[in-house]
Amino acid sequence: MAMTYPEYIWQNGAIKPWAEATVHVMAHALHYGSSVFEGIRSYETPNGPAIFRLTDHLKRLYLSAKIYDIVIPYTIDELAEACREVIRRNGLTKAYLRPVAFRGLGGFGLSADTPTDVAVATWEMGPYLGPGVLETGIDACVSSWQRFAPNTIPAGAKAGGNYLSGQLIAREARRLGFGEGIALASTGLLSEGAGENLFLMFDGQMHTTPASAAILNGITRHTLITLARDNGIEVIERDMPREYLYLADEILMCGTAAEVTPIKSVDGKPVGEGKAGPITRRIQDLYFGLFKGTTEDRWGWLDPVG
Ligand code: PMP
Repeated sequence: MAMTYPEYIWQNGAIKPWAEATVHVMAHALHYGSSVFEGIRSYETPNGPAIFRLTDHLKRLYLSAKIYDIVIPYTIDELAEACREVIRRNGLTKAYLRPVAFRGLGGFGLSADTPTDVAVATWEMGPYLGPGVLETGIDACVSSWQRFAPNTIPAGAKAGGNYLSGQLIAREARRLGFGEGIALASTGLLSEGAGENLFLMFDGQMHTTPASAAILNGITRHTLITLARDNGIEVIERDMPREYLYLADEILMCGTAAEVTPIKSVDGKPVGEGKAGPITRRIQDLYFGLFKGTTEDRWGWLDPVG
């Protein structure tokens, strides 16, 4: 699909025209996946455009970088300001932000100490899993690809190389006609979606897979846990076998890009009544209410673009 690009991007300390933000083909990250990145959204709110959980996302970026010894030559505050600035300069309000830090040009060995390049891009983005899916839900399948084992690649780092696994899962699902793929962990137990965390609802409670199930510790997942508990809905972090996908009353997928997407079937079997259930609807209302102003932001999650 043709993409229209925004006018400006932030790269290595300065705003520049989108087309000028290039890298050398021998940059380390291009060959070895040695990048760390974030996906963040900004929303139009009654108090003007705001970036959702900006500091929490940037903190995770630095933690991902720490795991791989990637030194980011900017402070969190500097990158936070870069995020606000690209949105302002591109005249965007409801947008997706992509900070990325990667090993650049300067060595070809695996353990080479290369300089770190940093960029922040932004663009307009609607629902990630397709138009209308927040209402209708998606048909998901269990992937034939497992997530990586915890002693191979750390799932808790949001690193470029991890997304080879995500691409296999997502592309297989699309090829077979599904909206998204769900992966099992190397234990055979449930892990997460290609780029989303999972919540399964049983008897009014929300169950989500734990950090030890090769998941990315999602910020949306944390947001939903917080909102649910704050509203008297019990949330349990636990391992679950595959068949729970066929037995749950409701299932939702969540992530910055996917937001809160209902799952209406898994492997062709309807989830509950085959449409978004009451807990999913309630969680969607609470989540999107943060941006509409109907859910009070008691946690300081909205960072004004200014
Ligand atoms: N799992 C994976 C593999 C992801 O890529 C994402 C998206 N970043 C998520 C879960 C959800 O994380 P978050 O809510 O922080 O966007």
